[in-house]
Amino acid sequence: MKGKRILVTGAAGFIGSNLVEYLVRDNSVIGVDNLSSGKKENIKEFLTSKNFVFKQMDIKDSESFKREMDGVDIVFHLSANADVRRGFDDSVIDFRENVQATLSVLEAMRSGDVKEIIFSSTSAVYGNAEMIPTPEQYGPLRPISHYGASKLAAEAFIFSFSSNYGFTSSIFRFANVVGRKGTHGAISDFVAKLKRNKDVLDVLGDGTQKKSYIYVDDCVKGIIELHGKEDGLFNLGTKGRTSVREMAEMTVARYSPNARINYVGGPGGAGWVGDIKFGGLDISKALRNGWKYEIESTDAVRKAIVDAGEST
Ligand code: NAD
Repeated sequence: MKGKRILVTGAAGFIGSNLVEYLVRDNSVIGVDNLSSGKKENIKEFLTSKNFVFKQMDIKDSESFKREMDGVDIVFHLSANADVRRGFDDSVIDFRENVQATLSVLEAMRSGDVKEIIFSSTSAVYGNAEMIPTPEQYGPLRPISHYGASKLAAEAFIFSFSSNYGFTSSIFRFANVVGRKGTHGAISDFVAKLKRNKDVLDVLGDGTQKKSYIYVDDCVKGIIELHGKEDGLFNLGTKGRTSVREMAEMTVARYSPNARINYVGGPGGAGWVGDIKFGGLDISKALRNGWKYEIESTDAVRKAIVDAGEST
């Protein structure tokens, strides 16, 4: 991707800031973020680049947001409430930040005549799928979290806007993304807990939870390389899967080898209500379209554990 004018929502977040790092090399990038979970620190290295401009703004503020669409070729829409557990207590946040905010993006694109959107969806749309690895065409889709439900609704609006107004859309259902600048999820949680208490690591669930993890560089390269290909709907993950027990043991081995791991349990052995206990994505469509990932699931986790120690 070269010479484009690109708008990235959620640019100061974990994946957004890693994406900007790739895009600013050869494109002009407008990064938009309200800093609700993102940090300016994540994008500080780009603030002096002639290819990057940062706008602190809530994308639901439709009128100001529309003004940012001037001359934009492609929107990468990554902003969201990405904290699945938060939606249990605050049961409207996912609708507001993931559905309403996506509509705001689509409306702004329509009024600014922007024709391409790339969206970060999630494996959470599959819920507790009976088929693992789960292919893109799996159904019926029955999300078990408000987060998964809101991402599925956002996907649906992206499809309908694409069909009604001639947008090109690409939707990526990510596995668990880990790595540099990561701020949420089990790895940062474990590392932060071990910093507070060197003797015991409390782990949610029974430890048998097993999912696929993808390193953030492989994820970002995937969306850049695959957008616009086939029908635009892709799972992005790795073939391998890693258990929470393995993740906890690797984190303890690195940061506090004598710590005891205490599995505190959870609903049906999962970490929390809405946590998918067993998941894995069929990524053959992405692979057949020329994308390759470099780091397998457990190595991605191992590398992210080191990253988390540097940033937590
Ligand atoms: P993140 O929380 O680090 O990034 C989200 C960013 O969006 C934050 O910087 C936040 O401040 C910003 N934001 C939220 N609401 C906003 C609003 N109304 N206006 C402007 N900015 C707003 O999360 P992340 O892990 O980087 O996730 C990025 C995207 O990838 C999300 O859409 C998430 O659902 C999706 N995703 C992430 C994972 C993962 O494992 N991290 C897995 C699947 C899908």
